[in-house]
Order: sequence, then structure tokens, then C-alpha cells
Amino acid sequence: MGETRHTRVLIIGSGPAGYTAAVYAARAMLNPILVQGIQPGGQLTITTEVENWPGDTHVMGPDLMVRMQAHAEAMGAEVIADHIAALDLSRRPFTAEADSGTTYTADAVILATGAQAKWLGLPSEEQFKGFGVSACATCDGFFYRGKRVVVIGGGNTAVEEALFLTNFASQVTLIHRRDRLRAEKIMQDRLFKHPKINVLWHHEVTEVLGEDNPRGVTAVRLRHVTTGQATDIPCDGVFVAIGHAPASGLVRDQLELHNGGYVRVDAGSTRTSVPGVFAAGDLTDHIYRQAVTSAGMGCMAALDAEKFLAGH
Ligand code: FAD
Ligand code: NAP
Repeated sequence: MGETRHTRVLIIGSGPAGYTAAVYAARAMLNPILVQGIQPGGQLTITTEVENWPGDTHVMGPDLMVRMQAHAEAMGAEVIADHIAALDLSRRPFTAEADSGTTYTADAVILATGAQAKWLGLPSEEQFKGFGVSACATCDGFFYRGKRVVVIGGGNTAVEEALFLTNFASQVTLIHRRDRLRAEKIMQDRLFKHPKINVLWHHEVTEVLGEDNPRGVTAVRLRHVTTGQATDIPCDGVFVAIGHAPASGLVRDQLELHNGGYVRVDAGSTRTSVPGVFAAGDLTDHIYRQAVTSAGMGCMAALDAEKFLAGH
């Protein structure tokens, strides 16, 4: 049996929301413990350049997150490499069971578990995951030097992934189900001007085609969304970039959720449906989902927790 540790504020998650909450809670002398989860640094660790973090015209996502961790620790937060497997919010102090065997009890909890990549849900996508199908160009792009890849999606992530993949691939085809992208205009301009990128509108992927020996992708089968016509596009890699789903599994039956699984908070605050539990960042935000807005909410959560603890 592992040890039990008590903290005034337990912060779950190490993205911009978690680390910012840790900076503020530490400066409020609350001695917070932050548990990082299986992706220390969060989503920005799987991207390259970030160009919209105020104060840095260019900063590499992983570098920014290393600096955020160092900042939180310098202010006095304890950052722990562990993952919370279960959380009990039914009574105070709240209880969190970690994979390491440690049990954390906390007077207040800040949830900052962010979001995870969505998949198309095709059996063939599952079959070739890790063998030509990926949701992270930064992680896997290197394997596609001189090869043909497709990227699926029409948001900022898809456009960024397509642009990044031009560093390796001989040809990049962006496949989108509509005729308009959601990505920022500046990103769209770069995409349309790039000689290696071709955009295929009004198509969705119905199957990933490949071989078993050795296991690998050879093509994607597409369907035109209005005519229904099927086309096969030969390729070696498939990058799925169709958005992210909130990581609310820990609290699914304990907190009010909305908009497909995002934790609901009171307007203008980070208060959830359970007093003493606060939520920040992509976990609670289905609209903005940016590093800077997540960091802002992390700050709010720490201030909300401080106020709550002062009243108890
Ligand atoms: P996340 O960054 O998602 O972090 C969640 C954290 O929770 C992780 O550390 C994870 O390990 C932890 N966690 C989850 N479950 C548990 C658990 N059970 N126990 C313990 N810990 C747990 N935004 C921008 O502003 N600019 C950009 O240029 C930009 N580029 C992006 C590029 C890509 C490829 C992606 C995917 C996103 C990008 N974003 C960008 C969006 C930005 O990354 C997110 O808005 C931001 O990271 C959300 O921060 P967060 O703190 O809410 O959560
Ligand atoms: P997103 O903005 O939600 O876009 C998802 C895209 O995937 C949409 O174009 C959507 O199509 C498409 N899609 C969804 N489900 C699909 C399916 N089953 N089959 C085919 N296509 C599907 O997600 P995101 O691009 O990951 O961005 C998430 C958030 O992170 C956004 O707020 C974004 O601004 C932010 N982000 C910011 C940056 C940056 O600032 N540089 C970089 C990356 C991400 P429709 O358009 O038809 O709905």
C-alpha cells in the first residue's frame, strides 16, 4: 500500500492551465501539489512553433512548457510525475488515487486535464494506428521523408500538421469534408501557397488501405460527400487532425458536464457543480481552446480556490 499525502490544493494536469494555477496557488502560500499525468507539459509538447503566446513571437511548444514547469517549481509548487487513476469528489477532503499507489487528499482540487486527439473511429484506422496512422505530425513526421502523406481535418491543427509535414514528405494532401477551413487566415494563406500541398475538398475517409507484412498504409479510400463517388489516394502516412475531446473521464459521473463532455463551470468563474472543485483550460472550454486562454483560466482557478479555502 502506498503513502497518503494531504495538500490544500491538488492540481491535476500539467498543461498551461495546470502550471499557471500552480504559480498562483504557490504564490498564495497554498503549497500546491501538481500531478503531471502521462503527457507532462500537455498538448503543446506535441507541436513545434507557437506564434501566439504573448511576449514570444516564436517559441517552441515543448520549450515553453519546460519553462512553465520551472516557473511553477521556482514559486514553490511541488510537481509530481504521476497519473491520477480515480478521484472521489463526494466528500471533503477529496481523494485522488494515483498510479504510483500514492493517495492524495485535498481541501480543494483544480482540474486541468485538457483534451485528447479525436479519431475517425474506423476499424482500419485502428488496425494501422502506429503503422502509418498517427495523430501527431511532430512525433511521427520524421518517418515520412520523401513519402506521400494525407492529413484529415480543416482546423488549425490540420493546417499546422500539413505545413509541418512538408519538411519531410514529398507530397501532402489535406482532405477536408467541407469547402472551407476553420484554421486562421494566416495559416490558410501559407497552406494554399505551399507547392507541396494539395487540398481535396468535400471528401471524407471511409477506409485506410494497407498491407499486413510488413504492416503499413498504402492508400486511403475517400467518398465525395455529395456525389458519393469513391476514390483511392495512394499514400504512406495518414495524419488524423479532426480535433480534440475533453479529458473528463475522471469526473464524468461526479460533475455537471455539457457540450459533449466539457466540465461546466459557473459563468465568469472556474467553479464546478461541486464546491471546492475548480476546472480550467481545454477541459472546460469548447470555444477558445488556446494556450493563453487555458493559462488565464488556470490563474482564475487558483484565485477561486484561494477564496474558497479562506472561507472554510
Ligand atoms: P493540456 O495542454 O491538454 O494538458 C492536459 C494535462 O492534463 C496534461 O499534462 C496531461 O498529462 C494531464 N492529465 C490528463 N489526465 C490526467 C490524469 N488522469 N492525471 C493527471 N494528469 C492528467 N494553442 C495556442 O494557443 N497556440 C498554438 O500554437 C497551439 N498549437 C497547438 C498545436 C497542437 C498540435 C495542438 C494539439 C494544440 C495546440 N494549441 C495551441 C492548443 C493548446 O495546446 C491547448 O489549448 C492547451 O494546451 C490546453 O491547455 P490545458 O492546460 O487545458 O491542457
Ligand atoms: P477544430 O478546430 O475543432 O477542427 C476540427 C476539424 O476537423 C474541423 O475542420 C472539422 O470539420 C474536422 N472534423 C471533425 N470531425 C471530423 C470527422 N469525423 N471527419 C472528418 N473531419 C472532421 O480542432 P483543432 O484543429 O484540433 O483545433 C482545436 C483548438 O486548438 C482550436 O481552438 C484551435 O484554434 C486550437 N489550435 C490553435 C493553434 C494555433 O493557434 N496555431 C494550433 C492548433 C490548434 P468541420 O470544419 O466540417 O467541422
